[in-house]
Amino acid sequence: MWRATILTLFPEMFPGPLGLSLAGDALARGVWELETRQIREHGIGRHRAVDDTPAGGGPGMVMRADVLAAAVDAAAPADDPRPRLLMSPRGRPLTQRRVRHLARGPGAMILCARFEGVDERIIAARGLEEVSIGDYILSGGEIAALALMDACVRLLPGVMGEELSGQEESFEDGLLEYPQYTRPRDFEGREIPEVLLSGDHGEIAKWRRAEAVKLTRARRPDLLARKED
Ligand code: SAH
Repeated sequence: MWRATILTLFPEMFPGPLGLSLAGDALARGVWELETRQIREHGIGRHRAVDDTPAGGGPGMVMRADVLAAAVDAAAPADDPRPRLLMSPRGRPLTQRRVRHLARGPGAMILCARFEGVDERIIAARGLEEVSIGDYILSGGEIAALALMDACVRLLPGVMGEELSGQEESFEDGLLEYPQYTRPRDFEGREIPEVLLSGDHGEIAKWRRAEAVKLTRARRPDLLARKED
């Protein structure tokens, strides 16, 4: 079973949207498991402090390495084979390739930071892999963790209705997806491309491929460049 353990100051945010639809059904069926751990349980003193002012000055607060180490050690002992992720805008941007790899593995331990982030020393001390979900700043790692888990869980065996629908999507072959259409045939004067109504599966596949390449070249030339690597 694929197991996610989330370290957070806001366990109430989980499973949140992952309790619904495909991911929620799979959670209820035991295809995957979601455990949340309250970082504050490892906080310091009467107030269970988890953060302190930044060394060297500056705005905001930084999450303490000692508190986070205790939380990580309680959640994932040294022999836990799962990767230990830290949601972080400084991390390597998440890709479908990394998602696929994570989905094939035993799960993940995911540390969600808040405030200005974490004391740098926890990253090396507990072998955390920093993962970003894009070049923008969220107020905490929880929504990033939900996005990462959603992407993984839909790939687990038995989660998506039609296995094939996972195969032909954007990024799976380094291309964005071709345009999709459904009924009605005429929508406000806009027609479905003739070839899609032809029943000629060879021609349809050719058209889709050409559209995917055209779209990728126009919008994400970086994907085509990467594909040729
Ligand atoms: N001061 C930090 C941002 C802190 S945002 C900086 O400038 O880099 C607070 C927390 O939200 C982060 O520590 C991280 O856990 C999470 N977070 C914010 N943006 C994110 C992103 N794009 N991807 C993943 N996690 C993110």
